[in-house]
Amino acid sequence: MNSSRFANGPFNGKMKRLVTSLVLPIDPKRSGNCRNCGACCEFLVKCPFLRYSDDDPPKARCKAYAIRPLQCRKYPRTKDEQIHEPCGYCFDRSEE
Ligand code: SF4
Repeated sequence: MNSSRFANGPFNGKMKRLVTSLVLPIDPKRSGNCRNCGACCEFLVKCPFLRYSDDDPPKARCKAYAIRPLQCRKYPRTKDEQIHEPCGYCFDRSEE
């Protein structure tokens, strides 16, 4: 995870991710699954729909999951836009 709020552009790429999620697909090289850590839901501003279970460790849950925006649905859309690590998703970069 980048420590600087501006390491990937304004708000650490949050604006870029917002825009690209509207028009670009998820990289087909993405694999894995969300671990429900909640890191991307707390980035810069904690989402008001974020809740945590009583499990140990707690699991993040979205109270608006069915209507969540594309920025949330597609995160991480590409490796370059992935700023939270460790994340349950990874990207095959063997052909690069
Ligand atoms: S950072 Fe990755 S694993 Fe954690 S909640 Fe977001 S998508 Fe899921």
